[in-house]
Amino acid sequence: MYILNFMDNLSKSSLNFLTTSSLDRMAGIRFKKQDFEALLNSPEALFVLVKKGENLLSENNGSDPLFLKKSELKNVSVTEENCFLLGYKGKNLYFALALAEDSSFTLPVDAEFTGLRKSKLQVKNWTGSLLAYTNALITWHGNHGFCGKCGSSTKPEELGQARYCTNENCKTPHYPRTDPAIIVAVTRGNKCLMARKAEWPDGMYSLVAGYVDHGESLEDTVVREVMEETSIKVKSVHYHSSQPWPFPYTLMVGFFAEAENDEIQVDTHELEDAQWFSREEIIEGLKAGSHKLPTIFSISRKLITDWFNEGNCGELQEYIK
Ligand SMILES: [Zn+2]
Repeated sequence: MYILNFMDNLSKSSLNFLTTSSLDRMAGIRFKKQDFEALLNSPEALFVLVKKGENLLSENNGSDPLFLKKSELKNVSVTEENCFLLGYKGKNLYFALALAEDSSFTLPVDAEFTGLRKSKLQVKNWTGSLLAYTNALITWHGNHGFCGKCGSSTKPEELGQARYCTNENCKTPHYPRTDPAIIVAVTRGNKCLMARKAEWPDGMYSLVAGYVDHGESLEDTVVREVMEETSIKVKSVHYHSSQPWPFPYTLMVGFFAEAENDEIQVDTHELEDAQWFSREEIIEGLKAGSHKLPTIFSISRKLITDWFNEGNCGELQEYIK
């Protein structure tokens, strides 16, 4: 039997890309306001820059993020409004730094701002995970400048891990929002249920996914989403692993489930198509170039790979050009 069946969920999740499990988030110092300046000016401090949702990468191959020291941030104001503590790893303290669109920041030689999805970034590396975390946090700050309760402005607190309402009569604290979504590999014998949206590249199929509603367990969402999108009823649901997905701040929760029926009826409001694929059909499609897998750094790819590898066709990676 495939070895992943024997791994615990902590181990499985740690294999997903974009997770920052090895980062010390330093929660103990978030309320020590006087430390902020000292931390910023520490020789260990490195800044992860984001401008208009894009990350600072080396221009040469676009695969290495550039983290800058404070001395390299010429003409940039670094304040509690735009700079947020990420955590500590190795010998470095990492801060997220949001640059204004009209910032006069001078790009280092051989550097450019690039979107995470477009980049050739080696997301398998820990540094890719740090960019994902940074992007989610900065996007959340940018989207939550006003209190959802009273409409007054909010300001960053707790070294950037919260925003407090500035209205003295409200003072509601707001914490970084994460939206849970399920993603599920539904199986039926040797086949796996896969679906695609019209805007995806031709031939690309992924798994059924969807956001959790209020009042639902994660397993309830699996059952509802699969039924809504494909009319397939699932009879068992097993948790696999989870993955932060910073577009903008989703937590993907991965499952396996077994189908009770075969006949698919596609909800064309959400999907362009859904089909059962056997391992052999996937091999054939990959060889012909007619079947494409979801991106290597997604939990979707991980679930499909784990399902495939448990069959009798070898490892999925062998068939990828
Ligand atoms: Zn308020």
